[in-house]
Amino acid sequence: MSGIPTTARVVIIGGGAVGVSSLYHLAKAGWTDCVLLEKNELTAGSTWHAAGNVPTFSTSWSLMNMQRYSTELYRGLGAAVDYPMNYHVTGSVRLGHSKERMQEFERARGMGRYQGMALDVLGVDEIRGKYPFLETHGLQGALYDPADGDIDPAQLTQALAKGARDMGATILRFTPATGVSRDKGEWVVHTEKGDIRCEIVVNAAGYYAQKVGEWFGPHGGRTVPMMVMSHQYLLSEPVAEIEAWSKEVGHKLPLLRDVDSSYYLRQEKSGFNLGPYERNCRAHWVDPSDPFPEDFSFQLFPDDLDRLEWYITDAMERVPLLGTAGISKVINGPIPYTPDGNPLIGPMPGVPNAYEACVFTFGIAQAGGAGKVLAEWITEGATEWDMWSCDPRRFTAYTDPDYCVQKGMEVYGHEYGMHFPHARWPAAPDRRLSAIHDQVKAQGGQFGAYNGWERADWYAQPGDDLSWDATQTWGRKGPWQARVRAECEAVRDSVGVLSLPGFSRFELSGAGAGEWLRGMITGGLPKPGRMSLGYFADPRGRIQTEMSILTHDEDRFTLITASVAQWHDLEWLQKHLAPGLTLVDVSGQNDTLIVSGPKSRDLFAGITDADLTLPWLSHQKARVAGMPAEMMRVSFAGELGWEVHARMADMPAIYRAVLAGGAKSFGMWALNSLRVEKGYRAWKGDLSTDYSVLEGGLGRFVKLDKPQDFIGKAALQAEFQRGIAKRFVTLVVEAGDCDAPYMSTLWHGGQVVGETTSGAWGYRVQKSIALGMLRADLAVPGTSVEVEIFGERCRAVVQPDAPLWDPANERIRA
Ligand SMILES: Cc1cc2nc3c(=O)[nH]c(=O)nc-3n(C[C@H](O)[C@H](O)[C@H](O)COP(=O)(O)OP(=O)(O)OC[C@H]3O[C@@H](n4cnc5c(N)ncnc54)[C@H](O)[C@@H]3O)c2cc1C
Repeated sequence: MSGIPTTARVVIIGGGAVGVSSLYHLAKAGWTDCVLLEKNELTAGSTWHAAGNVPTFSTSWSLMNMQRYSTELYRGLGAAVDYPMNYHVTGSVRLGHSKERMQEFERARGMGRYQGMALDVLGVDEIRGKYPFLETHGLQGALYDPADGDIDPAQLTQALAKGARDMGATILRFTPATGVSRDKGEWVVHTEKGDIRCEIVVNAAGYYAQKVGEWFGPHGGRTVPMMVMSHQYLLSEPVAEIEAWSKEVGHKLPLLRDVDSSYYLRQEKSGFNLGPYERNCRAHWVDPSDPFPEDFSFQLFPDDLDRLEWYITDAMERVPLLGTAGISKVINGPIPYTPDGNPLIGPMPGVPNAYEACVFTFGIAQAGGAGKVLAEWITEGATEWDMWSCDPRRFTAYTDPDYCVQKGMEVYGHEYGMHFPHARWPAAPDRRLSAIHDQVKAQGGQFGAYNGWERADWYAQPGDDLSWDATQTWGRKGPWQARVRAECEAVRDSVGVLSLPGFSRFELSGAGAGEWLRGMITGGLPKPGRMSLGYFADPRGRIQTEMSILTHDEDRFTLITASVAQWHDLEWLQKHLAPGLTLVDVSGQNDTLIVSGPKSRDLFAGITDADLTLPWLSHQKARVAGMPAEMMRVSFAGELGWEVHARMADMPAIYRAVLAGGAKSFGMWALNSLRVEKGYRAWKGDLSTDYSVLEGGLGRFVKLDKPQDFIGKAALQAEFQRGIAKRFVTLVVEAGDCDAPYMSTLWHGGQVVGETTSGAWGYRVQKSIALGMLRADLAVPGTSVEVEIFGERCRAVVQPDAPLWDPANERIRA
């Protein structure tokens, strides 16, 4: 009756560039029994009016990867699917006004080159060679990206649609999905033309994603963390000089981005397209006076040029030709934002067999890569590149609407902002506070947010410069440096305390829990009363996650994991949980103190009845300051020490007693320095699905000879036999003012031979340290390589496979 299919393997809701690219990539992977539903015509959401810029630039490795892939796909797409389209690879010039911006460009150039792109840094005198109509006042230089360009977003979508259809996939236009239900373990997607029963559903509904997401609430879903901004660009009348120049040289001007002024300016036919990301920006559909429309297909917001005045003037000063042309048209359209500006691509949190590919801010540039990533999630359960930056599970329950609006506006207003390692973006603080937050603050705590939990990064003293400007540096020097040093020294020489609310914590119980866990982790389980790190591999042997495992008895365990990993890790455990076992997420009920340093035993002797002679990696229940607590003898700081875990309400008393016992407060930045000195890995930096457990140097946590057929075992066995291509190393770096950021390239003999995964100054060893992955044949202690840090090649030496600080772990075992 309906003429629509009644079954499909996958139903994608939304026919913008991203949904259609997802369909295309599924079909390419052989999944042709897939249906895409579009409520209107394809592209009716944000796609039809997008400016169509296709940059590769990003300071995120994974986003750059995705965008690079898009450019490569788009170049060949027209021919591959026989749908010619307008894709102009014009190159781009990204202007830099400051030393720090030029450092950012150098970093992007390093990453880009590693990905095979010929990004180039230009001096001021070279810019006009690329862009003759430009004034160079106030500039320090530029980044040239030859792969940048612009594409017609509607043609791109239609080309992907043609490719998908030709492979056998189905696109139903003017067929809104109206809801979903679950029946016999399958999804039923409802439309006015009939129901489609399917295995998997994808929410690719663009700025409608929260609306579509509501249907998944009864099936375990959360509110999609997003909001909608209005973004405008204006098109100018033709400019004779541009027309003449283009005709003469045979191509368009490169795309221009004045990122410090915050706009893009590109040639559109023989005129200009100017698109600012204005500070004084405007959110839409965020309060009852401006309700979310039932349908906004092919609609725009009214022009609002007043907001852009400063930017238009600035752009006219930069490219005076712009001032010679009148404005012919303004496009003001909806553009969705997540709280960090990255899209949602991957498993829908809490909901089985449902995925998200939505809330794209740069969905034209990213559609190609996003389709690849989403198709990999669906067809293989894992992605080629670690895609945590876009994983929907990175946002947990703290992302309420107010948070989303504040953060979305902040990101939009600083779309091209630099993300300095010591700066905290100020919007929407204090989502989750520990019971001792006020005491931490009173000591000068300067906070950062970790899965919404406020933790002190460092402790300031009266007179310290706490201004935003002081944080605008890639260097390690700043008002925090002396404080962090003193905090590290206190942990080294005496005793320090770090308030660490928000650890993710799961309680596992039931007959056979131990045997099940042995089948999940690569290594062995600790004995009752003991604890150890457990590594979870994916079927490819790559590092899925790391948890601290506390054994209570053979049927009862506590699993503790990184704060941000809460939903990710819970889902991994739940997905594989054996029948009869119980897994409870108790994150947030407890609070944690890290108390570490050679005098920590003396401190505790006065305030606890715990047995302080129990060895490293033991745990026990005890009373601390009269309160019930768990004492775990571990230290991420690498000194004698205990973690105290206690109920949130009991922590103030414990904290007071620890401070009264002489502990000096230290923060997350000191902890980072201390852990890097010990070679302890951090999740989603050093530990990610980009690397196998063996590459990660975690062989001592892998028992290939154990009887359990743990996830990833076959892959790790094969890798072990084949030989490991890359190895985890610790490097001592002859660094300048900056320590190596994530994904700095490692060089040897004129070739890139690896990358860093962490870098920090070690205050105990007085050295700049990097952790990283190096070609296996070079991972020999004493080998000299170079680390490229913001464009500067710094000598670095491979260290022995032991911690730099306290290599024999004598202090921690004391
Ligand atoms: C002015 C402006 C300029 C921009 N310029 C650029 C640029 O230069 N480069 C760039 O990369 N990005 C740009 N963007 C952003 C870009 O437009 C979006 O990121 C991109 O279009 C998102 O694509 P999408 O497929 O995720 O969403 P959309 O294009 O919004 O598609 C979602 C689709 O879902 C459909 N849908 C919703 N609900 C249902 C339902 N219940 N059933 C069926 N279908 C449904 C909608 O009709 C819509 O077609 C710009 C945005 C604006 C506003």
